Amino acid sequence: MNRCLRDRTLWLIHQGESEESRRAHLRRCPRCETRYQRLVQDLRVIDQTLRETPPSPGVLHPARALRGRTLAVAAVLAAIVAVGGLEVWMWYQSLSWVQPRPDTSNAEAFLEEVSAVLSSPDNASGSAITMLPPPLDVDDLLEGQEKEGEQDSLGGM
Ligand SMILES: [Zn+2]
Repeated sequence: MNRCLRDRTLWLIHQGESEESRRAHLRRCPRCETRYQRLVQDLRVIDQTLRETPPSPGVLHPARALRGRTLAVAAVLAAIVAVGGLEVWMWYQSLSWVQPRPDTSNAEAFLEEVSAVLSSPDNASGSAITMLPPPLDVDDLLEGQEKEGEQDSLGGM
C-alpha cells in the first residue's frame, strides 16, 4: 500500500484500532510518521488541558473575569434566542391546528353549485332570491287576518 494514511487512520492507530498493514505503512513512511508524531503531540496537549483543574474565580485577572462574564451573558442570550425561536416556531405550528387552512375544494364545489343555480334554465328570471321560500310568520298571518278590515280602512284613508 503506497497511499499515505488519512488523519482518521492515524488516529485509529493511536487508539490501537487499525490494521497491521497500515501500521506497517506508518513504520516505513517518514511523511506519515511525522504526521503521526504531530497528532500524538496535539492529543497530549488536549488531554493535559482537559485534565487541568480550572482556576478558581477569585484569582482570575479582572480582564479575564470580564471576558468570562461576557461569554456567559452571550451564552445566556443565545439560549434565550434559541428557546424564543423554538417557542415562536411551536406557536406558528399550533396555529395551523387551531385555525386550519380553508379547504379550497369545498369552496370550489360551492361556487360550482351557485354557478349552476344562477345559470339554470328553470331560473329564467335570473334571480336566486325567487327560489327562496317566502318567510312565514304565523303571528303575522293571524294578525293579518284579524286586522284585514282595519288595513283596508287605513288603506282607504
Ligand atoms: Zn505515508
